[in-house]
Amino acid sequence: MTSARTRDRLIDRLRVDGIKNEAVLERIRNVPRHLFVDEALASRAYEDTALPIGFGQTISQPYIVALMTESLIEGLGASKKLVKVLEVGTGCGYQTAILAPFVQHIYSIERIKTLIPRVRKRLSQLKVHNLTLRHADGLRGWISQAPFQGIIVAASPPEVPQDLLHQLDEGGRLVIPIGTRSSQQLQRITRRGNTFETEELDLVSFVPLLEGTEV
Ligand code: SAH
Repeated sequence: MTSARTRDRLIDRLRVDGIKNEAVLERIRNVPRHLFVDEALASRAYEDTALPIGFGQTISQPYIVALMTESLIEGLGASKKLVKVLEVGTGCGYQTAILAPFVQHIYSIERIKTLIPRVRKRLSQLKVHNLTLRHADGLRGWISQAPFQGIIVAASPPEVPQDLLHQLDEGGRLVIPIGTRSSQQLQRITRRGNTFETEELDLVSFVPLLEGTEV
């Protein structure tokens, strides 16, 4: 159920659904998604669906993780990396693990404290070391580490948070689901000086971005 064939099937499916970046597909093939969910759900880990991770939160659907990663790094040369990426909504750390080889350093913020030590343990087992985790409200970004070449947000606010826009580097991209609980659109916003160019990527369904923190 977590075999090479099962994983290959997921990769075939992502290709059919339009994911083109071979390096991203290869990373998804190699990261053991079953380690990010409860044992009881491990048999479903290579289905292209979101799954519960407790605390009312989910591990994102592989297609969405692939799409967000591909959109964030589009045009990056083969052995090049983005310098700094901010991730809002670490959750179980799956998106972090997929993104890690494409970035020099990831700064990831999660508002539910209990999730953080689990992510730390899991990612260190997978030899993902280029990250700093923080328990905070990600809506404000991470001002002391800005600017970022990329910002990726895994929970949906009704409007684009201005603080995140201002923490983008020149040419930097913000990939974020904007909307209400029932209808959201994944957007890619690119900074060009003081103007921001918005592209609409897909219709999506994320948990809401909440203010404040929880233990
Ligand atoms: N990136 C995860 C998906 C996480 S689900 C994956 O790879 O599967 C979304 C996460 O965003 C949840 O863990 C939720 O607690 C978190 N979140 C919601 N609002 C937040 C905020 N304001 N700041 C930081 N994290 C937030």
